[in-house]
Parts: sequence; structure tokens; C-alpha cells
Amino acid sequence: MPKALSTQPTHDAALIASFSKQLIQWHKKHGRHGLPWQSITDPYAVWVSEIMLQQTQVATVLERYPKMMKRFPSVVHLARANIDEILAEWSGLGYYSRARNLHACAKQVVTQYQGKFPSDPMALEGLSGIGRSTAGAIAAFAFQARAPILDANVKRVLARLFGISGALQEKKVTDSLWQLATELLPRSPQHMPVYTQALMDFGATWCTAKQPVCLTQKAPCPFEGSCQAKALDQVLAIPKKEIKKKSPQFACAVGVLTHGNTVLLQKRPAKAIWGGLWSLPESPWQAQTAIDLSSTVQAESLTGEQLIGLILPNLSSKKTPALFGGLVRTGMGIKHIFSHRVLQIQTYEMALNAKAKKELDRSIGSTENQFIWAELDTLEQYGLPQPIRLLLEGRNPARGGAESDQYTNAAPIALKSSS
Ligand code: SF4
Repeated sequence: MPKALSTQPTHDAALIASFSKQLIQWHKKHGRHGLPWQSITDPYAVWVSEIMLQQTQVATVLERYPKMMKRFPSVVHLARANIDEILAEWSGLGYYSRARNLHACAKQVVTQYQGKFPSDPMALEGLSGIGRSTAGAIAAFAFQARAPILDANVKRVLARLFGISGALQEKKVTDSLWQLATELLPRSPQHMPVYTQALMDFGATWCTAKQPVCLTQKAPCPFEGSCQAKALDQVLAIPKKEIKKKSPQFACAVGVLTHGNTVLLQKRPAKAIWGGLWSLPESPWQAQTAIDLSSTVQAESLTGEQLIGLILPNLSSKKTPALFGGLVRTGMGIKHIFSHRVLQIQTYEMALNAKAKKELDRSIGSTENQFIWAELDTLEQYGLPQPIRLLLEGRNPARGGAESDQYTNAAPIALKSSS
């Protein structure tokens, strides 16, 4: 029978005093070593790695981080780059606000700090896209500052060790965890980089959410004797689970308008989902109480007129009569799962002849939106949402996605054979 949990953290002075030393010892044998962003003190390189590692798996960052650093070797290179170049390099990593914040932050460092990152965690926290935990990590790795981190893994570890039973979203719980994270820091600043790495590694590989080593018995936990969650037989109950709301569902139609070997792309508004990326013209999203395959945006077949009306609703149909005779092919259906919503995309393909393209160009030229006819074999130059990139490259999004999103109803399409 499990014992009752306290709502207050247990103040274990002995554990607080010995924690950093034990953790660093553990890291020597069991921590992750040799990652390309480890053992570097250049704050720019540390910062880029920390931002990439947020919400992206280490294996993916291992592949993408060297490319990012090669393309933008310094904060000045990044600040001077066009946002389209940065989004193109970021393509597939998801959470594109990180890329936009990278750009904004690089500009701030160049203009406000003469191209040198500040070493003070509070000043770092004032830069775009840098929260308190990321500021602590940058300060610890690059400047050996005694600054705590508190990402989701660290929260879980500390909540278990000190028996904190409340939900992590509660302010009083977060405040307690920050206080503990500060008390646990090693006294010597020179130990800060290895300690911070060790804490990250311990949460990511040892005290994991579902299979902590004390339950799997695969390896010994150095804190088993003092861990409150273990003593109370509450390891999997801590931290308290958040009750997730069901994600709202939406549907939209996406038009793949091609001419020869080019496809029409539209720039997405900066504040929208996939903000600032190039994508295919799409209809406004319709909220669905359940995914309804018979809805307008997911019709089995459309005329050219209907398609243009859906995906480019601001165009006057009277201005584009030559388009309407175009043959529309119903393409792939994609179910894209974002972190907080689900989007059912139905693609429709229409190849335009020279006359139709000319008419369309004349019509879209009078709108304020940005459009471009992109060569299908130069798509790597554009920042595109990952499912759209895979679709346009003739690949099946169900097999090639690097994001955590999912795709269904995939059927092959042959875009490159457009006439
Ligand atoms: S004893 Fe288990 S729950 Fe406690 S710190 Fe170790 S692995 Fe985590």
C-alpha cells in the first residue's frame, strides 16, 4: 500500500549538500560524452545547440547542428542572414518560432551587445527566445556561471527526489523547484558545465518519465537511498500528470498549382502556424467536431473554379476564367498532428498552361500576399513546412517526417510530371 505524499518538498540537507558531487561522479561513467556541442565555451555555439535541443531529439540535432553552424558560423552571420535562409535551414525541425527568435536574438546581440553574448543570466533572459532555464544553461556552459536550469526533465528529477507532489504547472511548485535547483548547484563555478550536462543527462537517460532505472533495475541509481518518490513507492505518480484536453481538429484544402517544373508558393503570415514559411495556397481552416471527410475542403472532386475559390478566396473568379477549365486531380490526404491541434489537409493538384498562369499572375499580383513560382528542384532554398516539403519532393510524408507530427491516408502523387 503506497504511503501518502506530502505537498511540501522534503528538506533533505544531506542530499542537498552531496547532490552535485554524486551527480558529477555518476556522469563520469554514465553521462553522454562526445556530443558536438559539449566542451565548447563559445556562447554562440552553446546558444544555437540549446535552442535546437528544445523539443527536438538529440539524434536529429546531431545531424542538423553541424549544418546550421556551417551555414551560420557566427552570431553576425546569423544576424545578417535573410529569415528565409534561416527558415530553410530549420525546415523539418518544427516549432518554427525558435528559428524566428534565433534571428531576432542574433540581431539583438549584434546591435545591443556589439556581437558578444552577455554572461549575466538575467541579461540573457532578456533576449528573444531565451527563457530562464536556457539562460542558465548558456551561462553555465559558456561562462561557468552558477545559474540553475529547470527544463522538463530536471523538474521531474527534482520533484521525485524531494517528493514534490503537486502539478508542475502550479506556480508554488515551480517556485519550490527553482529554489531547490539553486540550492543544489556546486559551490565551485568551474564545475558548472559538467554539473549542468550531468543533470540534463540524468533526466534524459536515467530518471526517465516512464522507465526510471530504479524500477527497471537495469542500472543502479546513485540517489535511490535518499529519493522520496522511491521511498514512498510513488515514482511513476510524480510528477502529477496533467490532464490533457482533446486537441481541436481542423480541415483545409491545399492547392498544388504547377506550371511546367514550377509550383506556386505563398508566404505564410508571420504570426500564423508555420509563420513566415513558404507553403502551398490553402483554404481557411474549418473547425471540425470530428474529421468529416465529406466537408467542402475534403470533397472527392473539385472543379478548377471551386479550387481557386477555396485556396485563393480573395481573387475574383471573373478575372481568371482560363483557370477554370483546368483539370483538378484529388491528391494526397495528410493528417498533421501539431502539439495542440490536428489538421486534416486534402491536397488538390492542377497543372496550369501558359495562358492560365499569366491570368493567375495578373490576379495575385494585385493582392498584398506574397507568391512565388518555385522550381521543384530548388525547394531546399525555401523554408517549407515539413509535410509540404515531402509532398512536393514526391515523397510520402508518412515515412520521411523529422517532426513529431503524423501523417495518414498517404498515397503517392507524381508532381514532377506536371505539364
Ligand atoms: S530512485 Fe528512481 S525516481 Fe529516484 S532519482 Fe533515482 S531513478 Fe529517479
